[in-house]
Amino acid sequence: MIRVSLPRLGRIRTHESTIKLSGRIQTGRARILSATVRYERGRWFVAFQVETAREMSRVSHPDTAVGIDLGVKHLAVLADSSGQTRYEPNPEHLDGVLKLLRFHSRRVSRRQGPDRRTGRKPSRRWEKANRERNKVHHRVANLRADALHKFTTRVRAEYGTVVLEDLNVAGMLRNRRLARRVADAGFGEIRRQLIYKGRRNLCTTIVANRWSPTSKTCSDCGAVKAKLPLHVRVFTCDTCGLVLDRDENAARNLLALAANCTTGTGVAGDQDTPRVSKPREADRKTRRQRPGRGGRAGGASLPHQRQKETGDRRQDTEARHAPR
Ligand SMILES: [Zn+2]
Repeated sequence: MIRVSLPRLGRIRTHESTIKLSGRIQTGRARILSATVRYERGRWFVAFQVETAREMSRVSHPDTAVGIDLGVKHLAVLADSSGQTRYEPNPEHLDGVLKLLRFHSRRVSRRQGPDRRTGRKPSRRWEKANRERNKVHHRVANLRADALHKFTTRVRAEYGTVVLEDLNVAGMLRNRRLARRVADAGFGEIRRQLIYKGRRNLCTTIVANRWSPTSKTCSDCGAVKAKLPLHVRVFTCDTCGLVLDRDENAARNLLALAANCTTGTGVAGDQDTPRVSKPREADRKTRRQRPGRGGRAGGASLPHQRQKETGDRRQDTEARHAPR
């Protein structure tokens, strides 16, 4: 079936197949709670909020942690606890079409556009040119969304623990030298996806304190540099003589935070581990039971509980690393 029935709108054909969803509904494995219709980039979308028991996907290295440093030169540098380092290239989707966009934008601005002050209506030629320009933007947005989803899914299918830094994305977008590159890379979206995809697999996500000096600390001996300008791409330690790529060094420091939080030698680490894993175990059980039950109240309270739990966790890690 490739149709959906919506109240007041009737039956509407969809481009994407709905067979999987309707199959789940017919066999009683899923229940639709709500539908959201939205118009986005020239297309209409319908999204269903569904209550269903989700299969846990296995993580290939549940005991391995990874520190992820997001950047502009490389989209991400991943340093994992087995000693491997990987560089995720920045696809730079927007840079690839900037020339094309310049061409289209110039064409649009040479035609009679709408004017709010005089109330002038745009000409048909303007509308056509504007449509063509927007098509480029939409294509970039789709490419970006696709690449980010593939990247975050891959990371969460591999590692049990992911350590991220709490980047001030809103602040970076206010910096006119960084804004375009940061927006194109989609840092905020990477973080959002890594967190929710980790929650689905009951894996741990640690968000490092925004002010912990992950770039300026030596990942080998722990000495902290007073200054490290952004253009310096190689980290050189004055104390032990370590020479390492700047971003790899930061990723290694983030990884070290995971070791402190999960297997830490101190008392705090020992207390921390059961407290985090217990509610998640309970969470998993309720989630499996849910399709059989009626009523919305139980379902509605769960996400709230989970959110609170991750919130606590973040405060924990922040508190622990603040003195450093
Ligand atoms: Zn050092």
